[in-house]
Amino acid sequence: MSRPLIISDCDGVLLNFIDPFVAYLASEHGLTLRMTSFALSGNIHDAAGEPVDAARFPMLLDGFFTTHMPTQTPIDGAVAALADLAADCDIVILTNIGDRHAATRTEELARLGMPYRVIGNLGPKGGPVAGLVESFQPSLAVFIDDLPPHHSSAKKLAPAVHRLHMVAEEPLRELIPPAPDADARIDDWAEAHAHIRRLIEAI
Ligand SMILES: [Mg+2]
Repeated sequence: MSRPLIISDCDGVLLNFIDPFVAYLASEHGLTLRMTSFALSGNIHDAAGEPVDAARFPMLLDGFFTTHMPTQTPIDGAVAALADLAADCDIVILTNIGDRHAATRTEELARLGMPYRVIGNLGPKGGPVAGLVESFQPSLAVFIDDLPPHHSSAKKLAPAVHRLHMVAEEPLRELIPPAPDADARIDDWAEAHAHIRRLIEAI
């Protein structure tokens, strides 16, 4: 019998993104990010308080991943929970990051105690989730992500996968509503770990 499969997002689930990104914007570009709504690109301002053109956002994000990925720290509890689950489950990190950053991300996650396979994706995640289920044929699949549209996409293309909506970063919790297409909303790893353990026991 194949093992359970855990497919986890990285930013906002395994690694802190907001605080390191805010620090990068300030130190490298003299910009500020105020999270008044969940729209990163519309919330960046220059020193004069003027909003930064959304067209600059991809370049800013790419710059962050190129030089500042090592400033990202693990979400509380993520390393220990995954280490425990890895004894019984296959674990794949499905992260929306350009191909050229996926190798660095693999190294960074391993350095921080998360030595798992990393897949760099762009766009909706339902397709790659379905592809992983097809190739692993797991006894149970759990998909974890902080962004509601990815849960909708996974529901559409891989409906049997248990969809866990986790918004682990404090500044985003109030801003991201419950994902209508997720099976559960759990924002911390201690509780998520117990939840996944219960799913495994019920197989
Ligand atoms: Mg994320």
